[in-house]
Amino acid sequence: MPANRLIAGMARSYIRCYRMHSFASRLIAWQRQHGRHDLPWQSADAYRVWLSEIMLQQTQVASVIPYYQRFITAFLNIAALAAATEDDVLAHWSGLGYYARGRNLHKAARIVVEKFNGEFPRNFEDILELPGIGRSTAAAICALAFHERRAILDGNVKRVLGRYCGIEGWAGNKQVEETLWQQAESLLPASPRPAGERVRERGGFDTDIATYTQALMDLGATVCTRSRPRCAACPVQADCVAVQTDRIAELPTPRPKKAVPERHATFLLLMHGNDILLEKRPGSGIWGGLWCPPQFADEDAARDWCERQGIKTRHSGAGRNPANSKNQCEALPTFTHTFTHFKLHITPLKIELARKPLVVAQPGMLWLEVGEALGAAIPTPVRKVLEQLDRSS
Ligand code: SF4
Repeated sequence: MPANRLIAGMARSYIRCYRMHSFASRLIAWQRQHGRHDLPWQSADAYRVWLSEIMLQQTQVASVIPYYQRFITAFLNIAALAAATEDDVLAHWSGLGYYARGRNLHKAARIVVEKFNGEFPRNFEDILELPGIGRSTAAAICALAFHERRAILDGNVKRVLGRYCGIEGWAGNKQVEETLWQQAESLLPASPRPAGERVRERGGFDTDIATYTQALMDLGATVCTRSRPRCAACPVQADCVAVQTDRIAELPTPRPKKAVPERHATFLLLMHGNDILLEKRPGSGIWGGLWCPPQFADEDAARDWCERQGIKTRHSGAGRNPANSKNQCEALPTFTHTFTHFKLHITPLKIELARKPLVVAQPGMLWLEVGEALGAAIPTPVRKVLEQLDRSS
């Protein structure tokens, strides 16, 4: 190899090496001084780290804290979580959204008990095989709980690296995501060290992987925020590409805009006194495994279902059957619930029954007093409707 190419190659790897250590060690030093140290899940306990990582997916820290505290009090360890019923787990998840996370957490706890004797696995591949755990979550558990050198790439980290490295393109694109993973790997501190040990390598570079991982999360949450990042307080501002090229507002590249689909649904609120009929939704799909009022495409479909159950909802039928003569039917105001990929416009159709129909006492359906239903595993829009009913009763 010609001498000039060799020298250029050595210079490139020196610069890469300097930048790599420099980024990690600056972040670690910053985290120790300015990062978050009082989050309730901060410990080397894999169960707590795992639970927090799952709850924090798509959800802000402030919203997660009260759920985390209630959850950890109810299910103190993996064995307690595995022994619980799915209903109980989902009742503690109720309101947090993305319920597949709660169902997968429960399934994974049972696998840990059966396959790993209740000990959370330490091996990255074993962790990755558990339901609901992807590459970044498995890496975060390995780094935070077991001090293993692994790169993470959650939403906040994508934003930090997208700006710091000046990576163009939406992070949902496979190629862009792969570039981000490569950067995340290349910026890792040199090597892991045992818990709590502060080690300085030759050249003064700090290598604590747990603190580094927490630093990335903290920087994304508190400094390199989605809007108006506080670059003046950022430990890597000196070589941040977004700052150097004046592209902070453009990076990361947002998701390409497309129209959000809109759907409509009717919630059938069958009431008898202060009792309401709820049905358990199938295990997969939106609100899987949660309790909801029977749901229909529109009001006509809901009324047809009632007619088939012998519940008269139209004036024509009410007069002929004394059992139905007092059924009061009322469409409540429509409201909108926004999911990640669509909007759902919900119209509650309230029917106050004169007599509780036996025909709907089927498996997967139950009558619950409204106050009791509020403590069950129900999604947020159902909670909204039930709270209205509770207030008006
Ligand atoms: Fe983000 Fe600003 Fe720090 Fe760059 S300097 S990583 S844009 S906070």
